Amino acid sequence: MSDGEPAKPPAARNAGLQVGRVLGVPIIVQPLWFLVVIFIAVSYAPEVRRRVPTLGHTASYAVSLGFVLLLYGSVLVHEISHVAVAKALGMQVRRVVLQMLGGVSEVVEEQPGKASREYMVAAVGPLTSLLLGGLGLAIAEAFRHDTVPWVLAEEFAFANLFVAAFNALPGLPLDGGRVLRALLWQVTHDKARGTLAAGWIGRGLALAVVGLAVAKPHGWGNSTAGSLYLIVIAVFMWTNASIAIAQAKVSTVLPQLDIRAMTRRAFPVAAELPVAEAVRRARDAGARALVVVDSNGKPSGLVSEAAVTALPAARQPWVSVSDLARPLADGLTLRTDMTGEALLQAVQQTPATEYLVLDQADAVCGVLSRTDLVAALQAAGLR
Ligand SMILES: [Zn+2]
Repeated sequence: MSDGEPAKPPAARNAGLQVGRVLGVPIIVQPLWFLVVIFIAVSYAPEVRRRVPTLGHTASYAVSLGFVLLLYGSVLVHEISHVAVAKALGMQVRRVVLQMLGGVSEVVEEQPGKASREYMVAAVGPLTSLLLGGLGLAIAEAFRHDTVPWVLAEEFAFANLFVAAFNALPGLPLDGGRVLRALLWQVTHDKARGTLAAGWIGRGLALAVVGLAVAKPHGWGNSTAGSLYLIVIAVFMWTNASIAIAQAKVSTVLPQLDIRAMTRRAFPVAAELPVAEAVRRARDAGARALVVVDSNGKPSGLVSEAAVTALPAARQPWVSVSDLARPLADGLTLRTDMTGEALLQAVQQTPATEYLVLDQADAVCGVLSRTDLVAALQAAGLR
């Protein structure tokens, strides 16, 4: 945050190791990634020995590790292609995360966004993998079969061709799903409808992957480890398709949300005031939330309703509000002019039970409680 970046969402803080920057975008590697690299390297070594019989035991592990690193290198190139196109179209990319199942480029979507841009950012991924696959095939041609460079180039080619084909499938969260979503969005002018369709296809594809893991057709996950890997992929796909579907449903009811209507009246209290007295004064004033203010009246903290409820009545006269208050961090302040979508994004980035709501003139408008927001979403027709 020293270089003036906005506050990062909590997920960004403990997500892994930053290994570098490409095009100004941080590249993050999740700790689990290292385990998966070792796992694949070890389980793939016997296959290397089978294909290059002259290779020794130790050397086969080295070649296997080299293959895995090439594989993840191409995943990185795939992600960087998304980043490059997004940047060329004037979009921001928060970071690239290398996960155990591949990579994710976190493109910051401004609202409402543009279908054509999403289409191009998504489509370049499978195309890049296709290109890498072709490159691998060409390189493999140049070497004698049963040599190490041939095995590496051929496996590299097949892995990338597989990634290209699989990622082009038209279900979320795959690139093909994003392309389909953007196309439907462009045609129907309804982003949520595109997301729902691509999300349901994504769920269908996840079930198909489970079927593949169970049926174990020849050469396809015909080992237990392979089946396990397919199941993990299926769970990942199902989960992310479901998140997309849920978000699409939320986005259809969001325009109906009015942040002012959900905001509770807040009562300003000094930090040293006992909780019992603060609660009494707020109740007398007809307010349902407590905001801690400094001597200039500037808000400095929020007292959560749950924290007050959890404090025994007998102790309330002896505890000051500052002991219960959560200091106002960046993400805890919302504004009355936020649209439904921006509001939801802000709440997702900084999970909390209460948020301070300011009006356009920076004056305290009140407090938005998460329970009130959830209730409003439910009332608007969600679950
Ligand atoms: Zn991609």
